[in-house]
Amino acid sequence: MSSSNKQAGSLNEKAGISSPEITNASAICQIKNKRRQQPSAEELVSGLLSGNRTALSRAITLIESTNPEHTEKANKIIKECLPKANKSIRIGITGVPGVGKSTFIEAFGTFLTQLGKKVAVLAVDPSSSLSHGSILGDKTRMEELVKDENAFIRPSASGETLGGVARKTRESIILCEAAGFDTIIIETVGVGQSETAVHSMVDFFLLLKISGAGDELQGIKRGIMEMADAIVINKADGDNIKKANLAKVEFNRALHLFPSKKSTWQPKVTTCSSVTKEGIPEVWETILKYFEMTHENGFFQEKRTEQNQFWMMETINEQLKSNFYNRPEIVSQLEQIKKAVQNNEISPFAAAQLLLEKYFKA
Ligand code: GDP
Repeated sequence: MSSSNKQAGSLNEKAGISSPEITNASAICQIKNKRRQQPSAEELVSGLLSGNRTALSRAITLIESTNPEHTEKANKIIKECLPKANKSIRIGITGVPGVGKSTFIEAFGTFLTQLGKKVAVLAVDPSSSLSHGSILGDKTRMEELVKDENAFIRPSASGETLGGVARKTRESIILCEAAGFDTIIIETVGVGQSETAVHSMVDFFLLLKISGAGDELQGIKRGIMEMADAIVINKADGDNIKKANLAKVEFNRALHLFPSKKSTWQPKVTTCSSVTKEGIPEVWETILKYFEMTHENGFFQEKRTEQNQFWMMETINEQLKSNFYNRPEIVSQLEQIKKAVQNNEISPFAAAQLLLEKYFKA
C-alpha cells in the first residue's frame, strides 16, 4: 500500500468509515470520473440528432475550441450532421446597439415557438473577444426564450478574426439544423464587416431600425440598405407610433431608388413594437412570402449553393493566410522587411515577392 493510501486508510478509520463504505466511495468516484469524461463524437451525434440541447451545446463548444483534438472530433460531428442539415430558414438580424435586437428576438422567437417552430439564436460578434463576453445572444436579455424548450440560444463565439467567428457560426448552423431547429436567427451588430459575413450565411436579412429625428437615412451605410430584405422599424409604440410611420414612408421611398435584387424580391418596410408585440406576426408573414417566392423562382437554392462555395473559398483563403503568417521563415523576417519598405530600401511589390518566394521554397 502506498503511503498516501495508508494515510487515507487511517483517516477513514478515524472517521469511522468501514470497508464496504470505502468500496461505495470508490464506486461513486468512478461514476464521477466517468461523468467528467467527455462524450464521444458518436454519443454527441446521436444526442444531437434526437434534439438534445446539451449535446448540441457541447458539440458547438468543440467547434469553438482551438484544441486540435477537439477540431478533429468537431469535424466528425459536422460530417455526420451535414446530411440532416439544410431544412430551415436562416434569418440574419442586424441593427445598432439599443435598437432592440434582444427584445425583438425574444418577442419574435416566442411568437415562432408558439406557432410550433423550433428556434435557434446564434450571434456573430467578433468584438466579443476584446470585451470578454458578448452582448449579443445574451441569455439574460431573452428571459422567456431561454426557458422555452423549443428554443436554443448561443452567444457569439469569441475569436480574433471575423472570419474565424463567422466560420464557427456557420458550422453551428449545421448542427442546430441537424438537431431539428427549423428557424435559425443570426444576430449581429451593425459594426465593421460583420453584417456582410452574416448576410453570406442567411436566406433573409432583416435590418432593425428606430425612428429618429426625421432624417432616417442619415448614417446608414448604403451597403446595409442594399443587403436588407426587410427593414423593421422597432419601438413603434406610445408616442412613437406617428414617427415610426413617417420613417416607414421615408425608408420605402429610399428602397425604391435601389436597383432591383437578383431574387426579384422588393424589400419590405414594416413597423413593430417588441414590447406590445404589435407588428411581430407581420414580420413573419413577410419572411414566409419571401420564402415562397424564392423557392418558386429557384433563387433560394441558388443562393445557398453560392454561399457554400463562398465559404469554401473563404476557408481556403483564411487557412493559406494563417499558414503564411505563422511560418517561422516569415515570422523571423517580416518585421525587418516591413522596415525596409518603410525606409524605401525596397518596393512593396519586390518585398512581397521576396517573402512569397521564401514561403514557397520552404
Ligand atoms: P439591443 O442592444 O439592440 O439588443 O437592444 P435591447 O433589446 O437591449 O433594447 C434596448 C432598449 O430598448 C431596452 O431598454 C428595451 O427595453 C427597449 N426596447 C426594445 N424594444 C422596444 C420596443 O419595441 N418598444 C419600446 N418602447 N422599447 C423597446
